[in-house]
Amino acid sequence: MSLENIKRIKDWGLGIDGHMIVSGPCSAETEEQVLSTARDVAKDKRVNVLRAGIWKPRTRPGSFEGIGEIGLEWLNKAKAETGLLIATEVANAAHVEACLKAGVDILWVGARTTVNPFSVQEVADALKGVDVPVLVKNPINPDLGLWQGGLERIASAGITRLAAIHRGFSTYEKTPFRNLPKWDMAIEMMRKFPQIDIINDPSHIAGNRELLPYVCQKAIDLNMEGLMIESHISPSVAWSDAAQQVTPNGLTELLDSLTFRQESVETGDTNKLDSLRKEIDELDDDIFQKIASRMNISDEIGKYKRDNSVTILQVDRWEEIVNKRISLGVAMGLDDNFVKNYLKLIHKESIRRQNLIMNEVEAELAGK
Ligand code: PEP
Ligand code: MN
Repeated sequence: MSLENIKRIKDWGLGIDGHMIVSGPCSAETEEQVLSTARDVAKDKRVNVLRAGIWKPRTRPGSFEGIGEIGLEWLNKAKAETGLLIATEVANAAHVEACLKAGVDILWVGARTTVNPFSVQEVADALKGVDVPVLVKNPINPDLGLWQGGLERIASAGITRLAAIHRGFSTYEKTPFRNLPKWDMAIEMMRKFPQIDIINDPSHIAGNRELLPYVCQKAIDLNMEGLMIESHISPSVAWSDAAQQVTPNGLTELLDSLTFRQESVETGDTNKLDSLRKEIDELDDDIFQKIASRMNISDEIGKYKRDNSVTILQVDRWEEIVNKRISLGVAMGLDDNFVKNYLKLIHKESIRRQNLIMNEVEAELAGK
């Protein structure tokens, strides 16, 4: 199956020649919400595409599952008023037909659909003979073949304006991210299919507003072709994904904070220092991620100790950790003093956080 004749986003004829910046609400909720978000988002001229989910694949029933076809009319009104291109998610043939009828500019296949070849094939079959741009999100599980397969199924329907969206991978582990970025998988995708543009969806990776700048900058630094960032006129009352959406102003601040770099000219192997520094940056990112996960587990332990009236400090356990880790660190070529100092720092911070957890209850009880 060939992915050879795929066009780069800049050649899609949509007038997007720099980064493709997609923004808009997770879900279309009301006409007013779509229009007011679109109006404000369109004030930032870097934004080219308005997004909004019309049919929402929710993890459990009973959550808001999308407003349905009426939302397509709102998107079209927003387009007429702002000039933004419009994009939404499709998961079956009926969605594709409704979008084509409404003239939606760009369709995307969601992460929960990419995992299911039957569904992707149904979408692909509905697209036969149609010339509409399609973006394929990575599947929720880290399976490069499945992502590739999704792209291939859509390509074999004759779609040539095709790109991928990196939105991170689901995990049961507690991590600072809602979905693990697993940057190496996106990099592998770029390496295998250099002709397929990838844009990044920092919103579903981060799951919160605070991590968005980091994820966006990292995506830009990896030379991704664009960003899909969820925005909402009032994020705190959003009907889905409230914690990760930014206001239109927040979006502008976020875009302002990023450094958009030009793809550098090939310099051969002369940039040794740069590439070593890049490796260090990657490792520091991983270390931070691990430390944050460790702190989360330590918080869980704090809650357990609180609920079971166990003391925070247990000297035996601490001795055991220190001794085991020092010999491990030394065996790995680290200095024993360095390992001791590192452990002290981590331990001190764990105790500080566990204290907060215990005192939070004390404070609450005192207030009652
Ligand atoms: C979305 O874009 O709102 C969405 C449902 O994302 P994903 O398919 O990445 O979960
Ligand atoms: Mn969402």
